[in-house]
Amino acid sequence: MLNFVLFGPPGAGKGTQSEKLIERYQLNHISTGDIFRAHISNQTPLGKQVSALIADGQLVPDAITIAMLEDEVDKNPGAKGFIFDGFPRTVAQAAALDEFLESKGSSITAVIALDVDQEELTKRIAERQKLTNRADDQADKLQKRIEEYFSKTIHVLPYYEAQHKLSKINGIGNIDDIFAELCGVVDQH
Ligand code: ADP
Repeated sequence: MLNFVLFGPPGAGKGTQSEKLIERYQLNHISTGDIFRAHISNQTPLGKQVSALIADGQLVPDAITIAMLEDEVDKNPGAKGFIFDGFPRTVAQAAALDEFLESKGSSITAVIALDVDQEELTKRIAERQKLTNRADDQADKLQKRIEEYFSKTIHVLPYYEAQHKLSKINGIGNIDDIFAELCGVVDQH
C-alpha cells in the first residue's frame, strides 16, 4: 500500500490538493475534518459528541479521532493506499497510526507538508468563510485552530522527520504548480 499524509496548517490547501491526488493515483482520501462534518450534519451520536469542540476550533480528543480513523481505513479493505488529510494532528495520533498500519503489514510511505505563512492562511480562510460559512472559520475560532496547530500539531513534523519521511513543499503559488511538486514526491515511491 502507498500511504501518504498531507500535512499543513488550516487553509494550507490540503483539501484542494487531495482531490487532485486521489484522481491521479486512485488512492482513498480520508479527511478527518470532512468525516466529522458529515457526522455533525447527519446528527449522529459521534457528531453530537464533537460538534461543540469543532465549532470552537479545538481538536477532538485523540481517542475519538483515532477510533474513527481506524474504522474508516477498515471500511476500505481493498484500497491501493490512502491519503490522510487532517490526520495525524498530534504525536499520539501519529504513533497510533504507525502501530495500526504496522498491524496490517503496512506503513506510512511519505509525509508531504504544505508550507504556507500565517498571513496567507488568514487571507485564504477569510475568503473561504464567505463561500462556505463554516462556523470554525470565524476569526476567533480560526485563531483557536491556529493556536491548536502551533501548540499540538506542529510536533508531528519532527516525529516524521526522525523517520526520514518528511518532504516540505511551498504551498503558495499556482495550484497546478504545487500539485506538480506533490506528484514529484509521490512518484519517488
Ligand atoms: P482545517 O480546514 O483547519 O484543516 P479540518 O477540516 O481538517 O480543518 O478539521 C476541522 C476540525 O475538525 C478541526 O479544527 C478539529 O476540531 C477537528 N479535527 C479534524 N481532524 C482532527 C484530528 N486529526 N484530531 C483532532 N481533531 C480533528
